[in-house]
Amino acid sequence: MKKRVVILGAGESGTGSAILAAARGYDVFVSDMGEIKDKYKQELRAGNIAFEERKHSSSLISKTDIIIKSPGIPDQSELVVKARESGIEVISEIEFAGRFTDATMICITGSNGKTTTTQLICKILSDAGLKVGLAGNVGHSFARQVAEKDYDYYVIELSSFQLDGMYEFKADIAVLMNITPDHLDRYDNSFKKYIDSKFRIINNQSESDYLIYWADDPVISNELDTRQIKAAMMPFSGTLKEGMSAYINNEILTLNLNDKTEEIMTIHDLALKGRHNTYNSMAAAIAGKILNIRKDKIRESLYDFQGVEHRLESLISVHGINFINDSKATNVNSSWYALECMTTKVVWIAGGVDKGNDYSELHELAKEKVKAIVCLGKDNKKIVSSFREIVPTIVETGSMPEALKSAYYLASTGDTVLLSPACASFDLFTSYEDRGRQFKEAVRNL
Ligand code: ADP
Repeated sequence: MKKRVVILGAGESGTGSAILAAARGYDVFVSDMGEIKDKYKQELRAGNIAFEERKHSSSLISKTDIIIKSPGIPDQSELVVKARESGIEVISEIEFAGRFTDATMICITGSNGKTTTTQLICKILSDAGLKVGLAGNVGHSFARQVAEKDYDYYVIELSSFQLDGMYEFKADIAVLMNITPDHLDRYDNSFKKYIDSKFRIINNQSESDYLIYWADDPVISNELDTRQIKAAMMPFSGTLKEGMSAYINNEILTLNLNDKTEEIMTIHDLALKGRHNTYNSMAAAIAGKILNIRKDKIRESLYDFQGVEHRLESLISVHGINFINDSKATNVNSSWYALECMTTKVVWIAGGVDKGNDYSELHELAKEKVKAIVCLGKDNKKIVSSFREIVPTIVETGSMPEALKSAYYLASTGDTVLLSPACASFDLFTSYEDRGRQFKEAVRNL
């Protein structure tokens, strides 16, 4: 009898999983609590794959061998708990698809910098002529690519939610960028549980695999002290040199692998500016070197990388005022790095849905660089009270056009208007992309 797979959630990863499972001979059923987008419905119909929308019918879901769950559905949800109790294997799309490919897996996780580093590594590999697929947060799902493509390498961005649904999967090269508190609501407010989730990136690794990590991160260092790591350790650092696989020496990004030191390029030639992006570039360069890509190829890729939308994205300047869209900065840590790399006075647009933020970490930078804060959120009390003594001007706004108008009014020639909210977007926008696009639109309309 055919094995049955039930897929919960019919977005890109669910539909990709359905296509892969059907191609591999499974009896497939897709169930989505919301409405399924037309393009996915058409694909499911074309593949003769049964589906339902706006409900989860327990009778159809409960008799199955495997459930592939979208990372958006919490492990604690009744459906998932019951399924596990009755012995059903509940896994993520990445776990499932990983069972059907022998490609080399390069997997990136961390609280911040995942997408950027994933794209940097993918560019280095594809510029070097390798057959590489990019998966995770953007574009086509991993499962769909496994079903339809024949790549030798995959560069995969993994959130903690995705990692939670992974068991047998192994990253040949794991990249751990940093760990700061985020999404704790999904981890019983336990930072330790979130750390453990991130460390699942090293599961199943052996001596022939690699772990690239940021050595300056105290959370990662402390955790590494308590664990036996089998993979080859490839640390990078902005401060240390000794024992590092990548470091900065006289402003030159330098690699040291297998006792061979190679200077890649000065940090001023990196396409992506800012200290955090130097870290992302170091991690990517190590990954490239592990895969034997020549240093001049790595340099070229890091030099002409185009940047990722909504991440410190420079827009046009208007009357000498620079505008930067960093809408993806949805936590305090990422806004810290954004403010840190500002070289002018800043009118800072911040706010939204606060995930338990501690803004005091930003006080020093705000004091030094921020001349005005434009709050953009339904509830701005916390930001106002946190910065009242620190930033001379704070205004509250409730829409993007209004926020931009205030920011433009408060900024002078030579200043930067920075949208780096440190908060999620769901109070006033549908997503961080929506927030970033509205910002860009408003800048164009100035
Ligand atoms: P993620 O995919 O982990 O959310 P992104 O690459 O999309 O990360 O970047 C999100 C935000 O985090 C960016 O707006 C940037 O300001 C900040 N950021 C990027 N890389 C790092 C890093 N290595 N450390 C801290 N913050 C970072």
